[in-house]
Amino acid sequence: MWQPRPETAIGIFRFMAVATGNEYGLFINGESVEPASGELRDLVEPATGEKIGRSAMAGAADIDRAVEAARAAVDGPWGRTPPTERSRLLHALADAIHANRKELAELESRNVGKAISSVKAEVGGAVENFRFFASVIGSIAGRSNPVGGSLLTYSLKEPVGVAAQIVPWNYPLLMSVWKLSPALAAGCSVVLKPDPQTPLSVLGVAELATEVGFPAGAINIVPGDGPGAGAYLVKHPGVDKVAFTGSTKTGGEIMRLCSEPIKRLTLELGGKSPNLVFADASLDDAIPSSVWSIYYSAGQSCEARSRVLVEASLYDEFVARFADYAKQIRVGDPLDPETQMGSLISMAHRDRVHGFVKRGVKEGAEVVAGGEFGDGKGAFYQPTVLAGVDNTMEVAQEEIFGPVVTVIPFEDEKDAIRIANDVRYGLFATVWTGDPARGHRVARAIKAGMVGINMPFTAFPGIPFGGYKQSGFGRELSIETLDLYLETKGVLVSTSPKPFNPFGL
Ligand code: NAD
Repeated sequence: MWQPRPETAIGIFRFMAVATGNEYGLFINGESVEPASGELRDLVEPATGEKIGRSAMAGAADIDRAVEAARAAVDGPWGRTPPTERSRLLHALADAIHANRKELAELESRNVGKAISSVKAEVGGAVENFRFFASVIGSIAGRSNPVGGSLLTYSLKEPVGVAAQIVPWNYPLLMSVWKLSPALAAGCSVVLKPDPQTPLSVLGVAELATEVGFPAGAINIVPGDGPGAGAYLVKHPGVDKVAFTGSTKTGGEIMRLCSEPIKRLTLELGGKSPNLVFADASLDDAIPSSVWSIYYSAGQSCEARSRVLVEASLYDEFVARFADYAKQIRVGDPLDPETQMGSLISMAHRDRVHGFVKRGVKEGAEVVAGGEFGDGKGAFYQPTVLAGVDNTMEVAQEEIFGPVVTVIPFEDEKDAIRIANDVRYGLFATVWTGDPARGHRVARAIKAGMVGINMPFTAFPGIPFGGYKQSGFGRELSIETLDLYLETKGVLVSTSPKPFNPFGL
């Protein structure tokens, strides 16, 4: 077991038996354990630059141990847990997260630098997610297929087995829960690797899962480096299915690793989502929602609407009003309930975002708001608006993953659809229009996994969430997700007293 260290614990970690003097173990086989390598890495609070603890980093021996525990669980007690009991456990975990929502929100906010007001909603989303998958477990069912003759046939749904899940740093809690909930509902066991910078909230969830009665080994959490621990986990022969959320580049690498052993794989990748504003839209609705759609989570969202496409006749008015809103966003201490936008994840990421802005300006974009680091010693960046952008520019094509929006004019509906689809990604799109028929027409024409019509919000349990094109494949949050963690087996039974003898020999 992880040995307590005599350091001062942060009060918010009280529910985590894992936390011993701000040092966090791996979570394997139902308990917090020390990494075989002994490696601990500093966790830095991005908004202050201060160290908030140290996290164990998994190496190959730890991943072996976690996969072994997951296998024993799925072949043993967890595999024998009936669906009704799995449903009860998922509801119990939702209750436990709800009961600890304040601690979890504060933990996430400090670890990621994200505004507490946003994180509270995300913790609520995590609760809803577990509830949704707890309630749809009953839909897992095979069927009997009438094939004629004396044959009785039926299909069985079986859990795929051990699922390896890899998640990024931008929504550490929510992305983990989006993956854990369908896998556990389907009866799989899980080895989940969070980003090494943001392991805390999902370690907390694993602790809570054990407290409410999930058997040891059903959930294992192994923070570690991507190319090291992550790639080792993906390649592990004991892993039956891989589910990944992260960048398109890493997704391609993981696809390659899964190709030889033909591993089941789902990918939730990057985006450069458009927000189309037609001249017949209500600007009073469209502008504040469009502002939210890019600056929520400081633009560090896969579905951030980072390209605003505006009908040319509205362009100047829209840019001026949008920039006014952007300048009013309250950026600052993530733990202040009045804060609307916190810091970025790290200084390195802030510098990367700034690099995009500088290159955009060189290519001809005009900064009409922001464009500079924010105040304070943390990784703050001002909400930034780039106007005069052409869709071929780097800032319009590449995922900046920061609080930077590009505003691009279009001439008519056909032109708007052309520009919207002219990127390698296809995750989300929002259409603002006063004409319902146009809304539906444009929604059909856009190559994206999700489209909102006069509706900026993207993630509701029950609505399939996922991408077209290089935004990945597979769907989360919905009943379709369950199938990604299930195998279907056809069973054929002869009901004839005569033996089946097709060649008549
Ligand atoms: P990333 O690809 O660098 O890392 C994501 C995860 O993969 C991390 O846990 C990392 O440690 C791990 N990893 C890195 N290299 C690996 C390798 N070779 N093998 C195995 N694992 C590896 O992405 P990021 O910068 O952390 O996250 C931001 C990206 O995630 C953005 O592109 C964003 O759009 C995307 N994202 C997509 C969705 C979605 O649902 N489509 C949701 C959130 C984030």
